[in-house]
Amino acid sequence: MKDSFSQTLNQLCSAARLAGIDNTVTTILTKPQREAISWLPLMTDKGLKMVRAYRVQYNNALGPYKGGIRYHHEVDINEVRMLALLMTIKNALFKLPLGGGKGGIVINPKTLTKKELKQLSQLYVQSLYPMFGPDKDIPAPDVYTNEQIIDWMSNEFNKLSGKLTPTAFTGKSLKNKGIQGREEATGLGGFYTLLELTKKLKKRPRETTIAIQGFGNVGYHFAIAVYKAGYKIIAVSDSKGGILDKRKRGMNPRHIKQDKLKKGLIGGCYCIGSVCDCFNYQAISNKKLLELPVDILVPAALGGSINKGNVLHIKARAILEMANGAINYDAYSKLEKKKITVVPDILANAGGVIVSYFEYQQNLKNEKWTKTKVFSLLEKRIKDTLADIWSLHQKKRCTLRTAAWILALQILAPKIKQR
Ligand code: NAD
Repeated sequence: MKDSFSQTLNQLCSAARLAGIDNTVTTILTKPQREAISWLPLMTDKGLKMVRAYRVQYNNALGPYKGGIRYHHEVDINEVRMLALLMTIKNALFKLPLGGGKGGIVINPKTLTKKELKQLSQLYVQSLYPMFGPDKDIPAPDVYTNEQIIDWMSNEFNKLSGKLTPTAFTGKSLKNKGIQGREEATGLGGFYTLLELTKKLKKRPRETTIAIQGFGNVGYHFAIAVYKAGYKIIAVSDSKGGILDKRKRGMNPRHIKQDKLKKGLIGGCYCIGSVCDCFNYQAISNKKLLELPVDILVPAALGGSINKGNVLHIKARAILEMANGAINYDAYSKLEKKKITVVPDILANAGGVIVSYFEYQQNLKNEKWTKTKVFSLLEKRIKDTLADIWSLHQKKRCTLRTAAWILALQILAPKIKQR
């Protein structure tokens, strides 16, 4: 994704202009404060493999850098920069005392054994150790990383520092001082924004159709929440393709997951136990899923899935941008012209970093928060911020994305200026 960073800079500059942000501040925000590129010597069963790794510390005017680590064979420095800038803006939007950062390792984790994955995660921390810590930079999981990987990293950090520091990483497992509800947090945050959006669109959940691209941590937990609330999930996909419910009755994500676990992919049949319906359901490609005439389209996989090439074929009424940078800047104006409402990534997927911040607080105070507490605090933060964005969007007659960026910049800019 070569131009993903420059596309996000376009968004930054246009929102900064509208918000009347000082040029000096905007210029500072066009560059990350620090970037590290490291080569990790991974000893695999087939011999030594040198693996490229990144950490971008974008801006820490509001607090220590914070952002996930992605394992993907196509991740590049531009994408990590873009994601780190988005974290900076997202944390400011939600008034979290955190800066923005992001990391990546250029690897297809599906090709590694568990032992190799552990070694790679430990090497990442060893190599970039001086950059990390609760007052410096606090990593978390992202695409193809999970609580197991974060536990390995957190334990490696403790080993190197010679003391237990649970606040150095978030997204840890419960047995390693993680927080209840972190796994569901991003999907659930998206669900809370969807509830509000559905009200604004004057639709009832049971008459709202949804298509979801991506069935990992974010897509799956989002699907579970919307299914429970009565929305009709009519298509779901992962990297290998997906399934479409031709009758639009709605599918249970748990059934899709069980079938995926059995077959290794989301097939064209809808199976409950051993009974499969292959007549009313069919296989659908990722490309076709994005072009379905649904009420809500949810890209929850990788960045750039809606771009110049396919934007004219998008027929959804609204888009909930769960994946970071799912919609290219160029495609945005076309969606606007088509009057497609877009809930931007920095709002729709903020549940992850908000609950990560709760985990950090829980660890600082050495407490154990309940799921009920976590989810009710999360819901309030999302609803309050959405209300602020919505009112600015109406006042300035700008998109929700621009309104969200303006609000974030208004919080961030004075802190940068102060410095
Ligand atoms: P994940 O690794 O758990 O799942 C990724 C999913 O995307 C998988 O189902 C995979 O099969 C699918 N996928 C990969 N390539 C695809 C392709 N080309 N087409 C369709 N599907 C594809 O990752 P995740 O944590 O669910 O993250 C998804 C998105 O949400 C990312 O953009 C991430 O940055 C963003 N996000 C995640 C979190 C979090 O807490 N995990 C927080 C904020 C934002």
